[in-house]
Amino acid sequence: AIEIKAMHKWYGQFHVLKDINLSVRHGERIVICGPSGSGKSTMIRCINRLEEHQQGHIIVGGIELTDDLKKIDEIRREVGMCFQHFNLFPHLTVLQNCSLAPIWVRKMPKAKAEEVAMKYLERVKIPDQAHKFPGQLSGGQQQRVAIARSLCMSPKVMLFDEPTSALDPEMIKEVLDVMIELAEEGMTMLCVTHEMGFAKTVADRVIFMDEGQIVEENEPGEFFNNPQNDRTKLFLSQIL
Ligand code: ATP
Ligand code: MG
Repeated sequence: AIEIKAMHKWYGQFHVLKDINLSVRHGERIVICGPSGSGKSTMIRCINRLEEHQQGHIIVGGIELTDDLKKIDEIRREVGMCFQHFNLFPHLTVLQNCSLAPIWVRKMPKAKAEEVAMKYLERVKIPDQAHKFPGQLSGGQQQRVAIARSLCMSPKVMLFDEPTSALDPEMIKEVLDVMIELAEEGMTMLCVTHEMGFAKTVADRVIFMDEGQIVEENEPGEFFNNPQNDRTKLFLSQIL
């Protein structure tokens, strides 16, 4: 579903991503971890062109990311993304937040878009919040709206960037449960997260980044029980 080959990125003089090679198969669940500043967010933001890479190739669903705006649009339609901060429109209701893109981007009739939105709000277990504004919801509920909003576009791939790290502990589980369900349904997922319990149960592969490089990559059992790289060992000793 995603191919990243010999990809480099610079912010000005700063070489932030160095020779990234990653291939994600359809239905695969990847967890990305690593210290702060290692380039995790930058890497996943490159996948839907929120950031631009300068060297190498990124191919999503058979389409290579270049300056071609049409291709960027095409890729963004297939790739959903959830961030740490939910980025909901505060002046729109939950239902409007969820139906906006299907109406404007997919040209779906409003009634149909709202029907689809309700279906996903039910899936994330907050259909009763549909007519509230984001500011009237808890953090966990807002994040579930953000996930439902992405799902309304029927993405083929979901990118998550620390979706639970701004949440109070009691709300983390409700968001992780939604992500686990998505994984069980076969969604292709790339998740930047420090929720190692989630990584152990859900990930097919765990990727460890440090200083802009993928330093280690393994299935979770090996990754956690038998890390090879010293930097991975140090990182795991600090967070586990
Ligand atoms: P965290 O765990 O704290 O979220 P991260 O692994 O997601 O960290 P990135 O946000 O990808 O790290 O940042 C990687 C490096 O790039 C950091 O050193 C950061 O300071 C730098 N950086 C990020 N965004 C920019 C930008 N827009 N301009 C310049 N440098 C940036
Ligand atoms: Mg980050």
